[in-house]
Amino acid sequence: MSIDLKRETKSEQNQQVSEYINKVLSLIEKEEVNKEEAAWITKETVDGFREHVNPGFLTYRKSVTKDGQFAAVEWSDNGACFKDVNGKEYIDCLGGFGIYNVGHRNPKVVKAVTDQLKRQALHSQDLLDPLRAMLAKILADITPGDLKYAFFTNSGTESVEAALKLAKMYSERTTFISTTRAFHGKSLGSLSGTAKGMFRKPFLPLIPGFRHVPFGDFDMMKKTFEVCAAVGEDVAAVILEPIQGEGGIILPPEGYLKQVRELCDEYGTLLIFDEVQTGMGRTGKMFAAELYDVVPDIICLAKAFGGGVMPAGAIVAREEVFKSWFPNPFMHTTTFGGNPLACAAAIATIGVLIEENLPVRAGVVGEYFLKELKEAAQGHEDKVLEIRGQGLMIGIEFHKDEIGYEVSKGMFDRGILVAGTLINSKTIRIEPALTISYEEVDKVIRTFKEVLNLVKA
Ligand SMILES: *Cc1c(COP(=O)(O)O)cnc(C)c1O
Repeated sequence: MSIDLKRETKSEQNQQVSEYINKVLSLIEKEEVNKEEAAWITKETVDGFREHVNPGFLTYRKSVTKDGQFAAVEWSDNGACFKDVNGKEYIDCLGGFGIYNVGHRNPKVVKAVTDQLKRQALHSQDLLDPLRAMLAKILADITPGDLKYAFFTNSGTESVEAALKLAKMYSERTTFISTTRAFHGKSLGSLSGTAKGMFRKPFLPLIPGFRHVPFGDFDMMKKTFEVCAAVGEDVAAVILEPIQGEGGIILPPEGYLKQVRELCDEYGTLLIFDEVQTGMGRTGKMFAAELYDVVPDIICLAKAFGGGVMPAGAIVAREEVFKSWFPNPFMHTTTFGGNPLACAAAIATIGVLIEENLPVRAGVVGEYFLKELKEAAQGHEDKVLEIRGQGLMIGIEFHKDEIGYEVSKGMFDRGILVAGTLINSKTIRIEPALTISYEEVDKVIRTFKEVLNLVKA
């Protein structure tokens, strides 16, 4: 017996859903939308957030006015900028918190992904997928020291999860040391390493065995190792961001990472560098580990790894460590990790970073940016506490959240997106595309100066 699908009447509700879907698809198809369509998109977006996503977002974001009369809805992006649905362009200095190292929709990355998409999107899960092998080889070549084997993920938190599980399996130990102000992600394993109490408290207890020590305090790190050894809880791994991102762009004190490396070696402990934000050229080197001449046992990557086009992440580990997963490669898996589209994106991204010398460019432009920002803030010491950074990872710390919010809102209204929400603006982060032009940098600085003059301390 066969059913004639066309003759079965669709329910009224399904008919409505179908019509809605067709309308949305017709909009996706368009490069630009007209005024009427823009108004419809804005209304549907605000209503959808309020009724079906999370109304909380409408309260805290500077892109929405208090009464919701105005809301900026993004629609397209290119280079160092993105546009809202009404065609207003913004210089993107938030950079998705470090996703857009090779710029928005870099043509070489888009080409690799679309070429791959035309042939095969996802992998069979059984045959050997070639791009996985080729990307792993490239990573072994470009990562510091003897890092050699790669496992692929879809996000930063997944990379951290993989690193923690690998460290446990290798060491047969269960204690981890992380640092205050660290951010390693929000899934239960990585959240155990993350430091912010507000994000952790409702989910306690997390993975047993995590201890936090102040970032940059080597003596505390050393004492904690001694205590752990004394009570029979040997440390499996220390997990660190070489430069803390989410914590407010915190640079390590001179010699700190090298000292931690030596301490780890002394105790047979692994060193995991979470370079989800600092990696892929952001800090002036391909990886921040190179800035400090330290080789970790495992490096975690994500964010810019997929070139701002595909979600993609990876860990790369030394053979000695990774070989714990040789006997049974199914000990840790993910269906989509290392899929052909993500690998194509990552391979093209690394190609662009190398060919266009973008890590070095980040260092040079970053130095200029930092110097000019500091100059612009002169005379505003009552508002700005400190401006610091490395490469194109820059933080502006204000005396209060409110000042930071007013500055980031003022800049947003003038076409520049920097980080900072109503509840998290004490340090605003600047992480633009590494391809940002000097003209764009100058416009950001001029605007910062202008807004700083208007904001009250
Ligand atoms: C953003 C970030 C993560 C988490 O990445 P997600 O892709 O959001 O899970 C982990 N570690 C660091 C250092 C990050 O900056």
